Amino acid sequence: MVSSQARLAVFGVALHALLIYAMFDVHFLTPLVHGMEPTTADFAAPASRLVVIVADGLRADRLFELEDAPGDDPDAPRVPRAPFLHGVAESRGRWGISHARPPTESRPGHVALLAGFYEDPSAITKGWQANAVEFDHLLNQSSAAWALGAPSVVPLFAKGIEHVRHRMYAEELEDFAASNDHAALDEWVFDRTIEILDGRSLSAEDEANGRSRDTERAALEGERVVFLLHLLGLDSAGHAHKPFGDAYAQNVKTVDDGVRRLVDAFERRFDQTPRDGGTTFLFTADHGMSSRGAHGDGDPGCTETPFVAWGAGIPAAADAAADDACAPRGKDAPTPRDAWGLEDKERCDVDQADVASLGASVLGMPPPTHNAGSLPVSYLDPAMPSARSGAALANAEQLLAVYRRKAAVAARASLTAFATPGGLRPYAPLAGANETLAAAKHARVEGDHDAAVDAAQALARACVDGTTYLHLYDRRLLLWTIASCFLGWIGVLLAELATEGRETKRQVCRVIHTRATAIAVGVSCAACAVLASRRAPATYYAYFTLPAWFARRAFLAFASAAPKRHATPRSRGKKAAELVATAAAAMALARTLCAAFHDRRVFSGLFAATAAALVAFAARAMTAKKRRGDAVARAAAVSALAAAAGAGALAPFTLFSVDLEANTALVVAGVACTALVGLLSHFALRPLDVFGDDPEDAGAGAAGGARRPGYKLLVAQLSLLWCAGLVVWVVDGLQGAKASIPAWLHASAWAIATGAMPLPLLSPPRFVPRFTSVYLAAATAYALFSVSYESLFYAALGFASLAWLVLERNVQKLAAADALAAGDPAPASAKPTANEVVFAASSEIRVADASVARHAATFLALINAAFFGTGNIASVASFEISSVYRFTTRFNPFLMGALLMLKVLVPMITVAVAFLCLLKLRAIPPFPAYLVFIALSDLMSVTFFFEVTTEGSWQDIGMSISRYALMGTQVVTILVFLGLADAYAAALPVRGVVARRAGKAVDGKKTR
Ligand SMILES: [Zn+2]
Repeated sequence: MVSSQARLAVFGVALHALLIYAMFDVHFLTPLVHGMEPTTADFAAPASRLVVIVADGLRADRLFELEDAPGDDPDAPRVPRAPFLHGVAESRGRWGISHARPPTESRPGHVALLAGFYEDPSAITKGWQANAVEFDHLLNQSSAAWALGAPSVVPLFAKGIEHVRHRMYAEELEDFAASNDHAALDEWVFDRTIEILDGRSLSAEDEANGRSRDTERAALEGERVVFLLHLLGLDSAGHAHKPFGDAYAQNVKTVDDGVRRLVDAFERRFDQTPRDGGTTFLFTADHGMSSRGAHGDGDPGCTETPFVAWGAGIPAAADAAADDACAPRGKDAPTPRDAWGLEDKERCDVDQADVASLGASVLGMPPPTHNAGSLPVSYLDPAMPSARSGAALANAEQLLAVYRRKAAVAARASLTAFATPGGLRPYAPLAGANETLAAAKHARVEGDHDAAVDAAQALARACVDGTTYLHLYDRRLLLWTIASCFLGWIGVLLAELATEGRETKRQVCRVIHTRATAIAVGVSCAACAVLASRRAPATYYAYFTLPAWFARRAFLAFASAAPKRHATPRSRGKKAAELVATAAAAMALARTLCAAFHDRRVFSGLFAATAAALVAFAARAMTAKKRRGDAVARAAAVSALAAAAGAGALAPFTLFSVDLEANTALVVAGVACTALVGLLSHFALRPLDVFGDDPEDAGAGAAGGARRPGYKLLVAQLSLLWCAGLVVWVVDGLQGAKASIPAWLHASAWAIATGAMPLPLLSPPRFVPRFTSVYLAAATAYALFSVSYESLFYAALGFASLAWLVLERNVQKLAAADALAAGDPAPASAKPTANEVVFAASSEIRVADASVARHAATFLALINAAFFGTGNIASVASFEISSVYRFTTRFNPFLMGALLMLKVLVPMITVAVAFLCLLKLRAIPPFPAYLVFIALSDLMSVTFFFEVTTEGSWQDIGMSISRYALMGTQVVTILVFLGLADAYAAALPVRGVVARRAGKAVDGKKTR
């Protein structure tokens, strides 16, 4: 029996590891395909070279806006903050907003700008640093390129490509600049670029590659030359001083002036070059910055970056006709009227990935191979109609090649396509793609360039949508397959529970067994054959075969279990109704807790509702007609009110902020509340002998408190608790005075915490004193971790757990009394005695009844509340180290991390001890309760699995992964909690009544 339980637990752990991994198979597939046919471009290049200037972290509004003129004259007209670029937008070039997509980070932003696709979320599986995938980009396609800037960005586009020269400042300069002058980084980049243009700069690496001044001059004067200038200054200025600070505004001016100098240098350098095709400049940013000085999410401050283009091939604002392609895209906020001074200059927005195809077009190249952006034609000069239509066609052809390649791969590999009659269903709007393309080419040959551009652009948009359609082609199938793995597993757990302890029908068993196995084998073989033919990844074999085996196991468990003895149709009907109600309640709870993972305030609502329900229960118990004034009913009502008070006390905590601000008074108040609960438990609760396991207490009254076993231990524990409070008070006082903390204080914190934890093992092995002792010991350690309201929360959590235990006991008594009153035959051992009602519970362990589900559900809610009561997933990860100052002030990430983990664990262990006490009280073996708990957790896991997202900021993506992984690993972590808690609960006897008989003998020997 034990070994079958162990097998199930080990299998559960392995299964959850697989299902956590499944997230990557379903959600984090790379959208990139390889092996496209290369496309070509047949139009004359409008420019010889392209200069892409990326001002890292520049918000659109901070570049374009006007500011007060220098000087004291209040009536002077406002002037542009960036006069050069503003002037370009007004007359010699075009401007707009480039819309970045979350995650608004440097790397994805640069990839979108230079390679034309939004970086693939599958990068998450391959680390953030190295190039996750090989991709084609503008520098790669050039004949010669120079990349200058920060060491965090430049290597992405320069490393390993022979014709790309790079210049990076040392990371030390970055650190230095971060503390002093951020704009120095930008000046460095402009100065180095101008040196290159003047032929004054050869790096050691250039010389090693056999480059000389002559070769460099030839390279500079060639065609298809790309410069990438990465300016980090604004990003670090924004992080350090917020984008609305002066440092940021000053840095904008530096950048603007640097661009002016740069443009002058280019003009100087190439004006004299014979037959030069000219230079195109694109100025933009990889992402913006929120007003808090951060980026990453979809805040408009982060997604709206400036875009200014001018030079060869770009029309001048002055002679640009109103252009349909510039029509707003829905997400564009209107141009501020007076603040920017640009409202009469046509604004033309782009998506960030569109920039790559524009860059390729001005050099007469097809877009990068993996490009997913569509060409913003309004940035190409209408005076060069052939280049315009040629570029639009090259863009459409390249996007169509991506779609075609993806469709070919999907037709071979897609499982959904296999299951669909007729195979892969192509994207319908692309059915006539060949004809559209031919017509557009024909129009171009005929000289109808506008018609060619329109047709090509429509085709390009359809290709982008079609590629997304194909990328998601199998997702639904996979989602539901993984979901059926979860549901099948839950089914196995339920079957295990429902048939636990029932005899098996050996005869029926063998026949059914063979048939069920045959079906499962058949289904698995068929699935494997299909998967092999589609060359599916190895993990797919598990996903697609497991549900059949789960179904087999659940079915066999039910089919081979003998029906319960004494079961009548009526009792079975009642049982079924009970099961349905339990299942519905479990679903509702899982939904609620899922919501609480997103917003911890849901716990407040949950606890408030629980308190209200308990008050209603108390009122009903007191007013029930059949035994008004009955002692049992009164006890149940009073304990329900106490539990309501516990739930009510827990409710407010999840409304408080998770940014814990140091408040010693709150910590000490928490210590006082904990001590009060400990005293109440000893002097008020124990004399009642609610659990019937503490005969020495019964009738002794509050006055007998000092004579009761465990009294001395209580005094010792309360003293330790107050010592902990004192240490907190002294350490916080010293820190407030900026004094150093003497080593002996840290040593005493360690001594108090480690000394407190084993003490509960010395407490009398009975429910109330043992739980109270654990509660006080954990409170002692927890107080040392508390910086604010945590210790108060812990006091409330322990009180609620204790009230939960007492309530369950009284409810048990109430049910037993009802059963007796109804005349149900009670087992002989449970005859009511003079001063108590004993249980009608039969010797049969009714594991599948609603009460186990109720206990497991309450435990799940409480243990998650213990986690979310003082923080959330982000706050745990954010490493708030002030919590560990009572133990150490020397920075040591491992020790500090371990201490923070302990802080999270302590309240959870207290709840786990309460849960184990309850199981003992109801004589429920822990394993079935564990299974119910896992089934409930997995209902939540399925929900989180569907919620895993690949869109939004890295934080959104990371949080969705954390939620899923956290629930998925609960199958293991809960075993750890229960194992630790069992060290305290092991000595408790099963069921109070049994303990009472056995206990007398034990007590006789003990002298405590
Ligand atoms: Zn950046």
